[in-house]
Formats: sequence, C-alpha cells, structure tokens
Amino acid sequence: MSKAQNPDAALRRFERRLARVGVELVDLSTGELSCTSCCKGWWFNLRPGGRLYRGFWKCPQGCNDGQSYSR
Ligand SMILES: [Zn+2]
Repeated sequence: MSKAQNPDAALRRFERRLARVGVELVDLSTGELSCTSCCKGWWFNLRPGGRLYRGFWKCPQGCNDGQSYSR
C-alpha cells in the first residue's frame, strides 16, 4: 500500500473526525456543516492557505462545546 493519501480517504477521515464531535459535513464545496444534535447548520471558512480556523467545528448553539476535535 502506498502512503500517498487520496482525496477521498482524506475526506472520509475529515468526516469521521467531525462525526466524533457531533458534526456532519453537508457540503464540502460550500463548507456547510450541520450539528447532529440540534440540526443547526453553519459554514466554516478556510483561512488563506486553506487552514481551518480554531473551533470551526463548534455548533453555534454550543451542543458540542465539551468535545475536542482531534486532528
Ligand atoms: Zn447543535
């Protein structure tokens, strides 16, 4: 097996990390996320250079405040 990561696998890992903190990726192209507890949706914006900002995964209603997102 090659260590090269294909985009699909990277996306699945991203989705799994989000799932652990109660978040569902709705649409990667628009950056839409949704909370699995309250179904509230929000959008994360990538910083210049494509970096995710701290806490991008947090539900605006605070449902997953006690969780920690691991990279
Ligand atoms: Zn929520």
